[in-house]
Amino acid sequence: MAVRGIIPPHMLKHLAESSDPEDRKLAVRMLMRIEKVRGMRRALGEVYVATPTGGRCIRVYDVKHGSDSDLPGDLLANPAKSKDPEVKEAYKGADATYSFYKDLYGRNSIDDKGMCIDSSVHFETDYDNAGWDGRQMIYGDGDGVYFNRFTIAIDVIGHELTHGVTEYEAGLVYQDQPGALNESMSDVFGTLVKQRVLNETVDQADWLIGEGIFTKKVKGKALRSMSAPGTAYDDPKLGKDPQPADMKHYVKTSEDEGGVHINSGIPNHAFYLAAMELGGHAWEKAGRIWYVTLRDALKPKTSFATAAKRTYQVAGVLFGEGSAEQAAVKKGWTGVGVKIPK
Ligand SMILES: [Zn+2]
Repeated sequence: MAVRGIIPPHMLKHLAESSDPEDRKLAVRMLMRIEKVRGMRRALGEVYVATPTGGRCIRVYDVKHGSDSDLPGDLLANPAKSKDPEVKEAYKGADATYSFYKDLYGRNSIDDKGMCIDSSVHFETDYDNAGWDGRQMIYGDGDGVYFNRFTIAIDVIGHELTHGVTEYEAGLVYQDQPGALNESMSDVFGTLVKQRVLNETVDQADWLIGEGIFTKKVKGKALRSMSAPGTAYDDPKLGKDPQPADMKHYVKTSEDEGGVHINSGIPNHAFYLAAMELGGHAWEKAGRIWYVTLRDALKPKTSFATAAKRTYQVAGVLFGEGSAEQAAVKKGWTGVGVKIPK
């Protein structure tokens, strides 16, 4: 199973080429950790089957700078009221994500069977990532130089937990186009969790992923932009946001599992265009179409074109053939150069 970390390897690789030895050390250490976590990743084989609880169950643990073998760490009482911002934010982000799926789409947690959402904070030391490891969330504190603590951005929490949802539903493989769709689904629902917490309409939303993750030292707003892929950051140390916004600029690469964090810009922008076309709260129509598609209509090796067709079909089922919703979905995909196959 691949790492579902929020920090893409290309960013760290760029930092590893810095003229500053401290930067290089930091980046190489993080890249090695990614490899290590990848290697040590719990050998699940299949999707982890959690014990059903029936209701809302959100737990936060402190792993106290320990590593994989120390997970999950000490269970914390009353995390919602913790004075530790990481504990409080990890709780609130998981809680908001649970409510998002439950209230809007009737989904009972990651597995739709009420599994507890477990999060461990203070993973290792200066750890520059946050991720879903197949059964729980792990948060690093960030190095404080380039990255803040990772709980700071609620969309990152929604993003990572959605990787869990995708695992239980479409099971999109983490490679090439299906992998980029997997990443995109996480960005879509990550930003929707944030937009709902802030009660924002499509015009009010920032459509950024990971706003707040960068320290002031970094020249950039966030990790990604769904409204303008490729413009989220441009920093001498971290490089430039490599995301394309359409198929004409699709990046063919063997890195990053075939560019899963790169080409996700294309389906991200398609969703953005469809949501803008529909207006209002993006989770009501565009989000619902994408969710039902993810749950019922995708296969592990779905391509962009097939995903486009499925969202179009689902829009027809939910809102009617020839509806404005269906037209908006078509407009979204056409806008990024993906033709809906017949
Ligand atoms: Zn991801």
